[in-house]
Amino acid sequence: MTLLYHADAERGAEWAALFAERAPEIAFEYRPDAIAPEAVRFLAVWHPQVGMLQRYSNLEVLFSLGAGVDQFDLGDIPHGLPLVRMVEPGIAQGMAEYVSLSVMLLHRHFLDYVGEQRAEIWRLKRFHPTSRLRVGFLGAGVLAQAAIAMLRPFGFALSAWSRSEKAIEGVTCYQGEDGLNAFLPQCDILVCLFPLTPETRSMLNGALFSKLPKGAALINCGRGQHLVQDDLIDALATGQLSRAILDVTDPEPLGPGHPFWSHEKIFLTPHTASVTQPDTAVDAVIDNIRRHRAGKTMVGLVDRNSLY
Ligand code: NDP
Repeated sequence: MTLLYHADAERGAEWAALFAERAPEIAFEYRPDAIAPEAVRFLAVWHPQVGMLQRYSNLEVLFSLGAGVDQFDLGDIPHGLPLVRMVEPGIAQGMAEYVSLSVMLLHRHFLDYVGEQRAEIWRLKRFHPTSRLRVGFLGAGVLAQAAIAMLRPFGFALSAWSRSEKAIEGVTCYQGEDGLNAFLPQCDILVCLFPLTPETRSMLNGALFSKLPKGAALINCGRGQHLVQDDLIDALATGQLSRAILDVTDPEPLGPGHPFWSHEKIFLTPHTASVTQPDTAVDAVIDNIRRHRAGKTMVGLVDRNSLY
């Protein structure tokens, strides 16, 4: 009844020590060659290799080491095998920090000042009370709600759009197609925290940008494939968008000479908005294995029907 952590060995050793301390009853391995494949009941992976699931034929649960599951070929996973994404406080905290920092940088025009300093320009830009800056989230899930909770005390005007109806304290929530049309025109900053699905792929496109207030800014922390790159370049050229902060691109990294690298209105970070933190992620996986053994629903269990 072993959990095999099939990813970076250095982190695997870290996980092993935490498992030994916190759940000695769960056998843990991070060296795939050190265990017979049929003994593996729980498998934790970032990017599953081709044929991996055939090799581990006695699996009871497949754990994603990340919050997203778009890296999995869902058609390749037997239907009866539960797939569980990573829902743990460390990822949520990291994302909340990244989004809050990005909103603050935009609010206080820091990215303008970086360029102006290099050009030896001393020019004050007016900023307004936070209550006048409208920050809208595409997606109102675990990570968006963590970012919202961190931003709320600053007093920004917060809103979110999601598939299903939501009630989040201090946030105007929208859903459905009509909801999207009402949501977009009131976003001075649009934060994308969607999962990548066929429905959300390419959603950040020219038609969507045209519904934002002129001069709005974009923060994309979802996936690079949410964005139609040429449409972003066009929207920045016309001033429909003023800036974009992109943590994710397609591909990663972008190729040499890609226009995003040198675009003065685009700020890139190397898919670092958030990472799974072993200290808290281990507790989440232990809790889920115990839930599974007790016949309870696991936290982060992926509803595959809602992803197609
Ligand atoms: P959740 O599943 O908790 O939240 C996703 C949200 O998106 C939900 O509110 C969901 O709506 C909404 N949504 C999904 N599809 C649609 C749709 N078609 N139309 C409208 N709303 C939709 O995910 P998390 O918050 O945990 O993670 C979000 C994503 O963040 C991950 O999938 C991953 O891609 C990305 N990520 C990026 C990282 C980075 O470092 N850049 C790190 C970790 C994650 P509803 O609630 O109604 O279902």
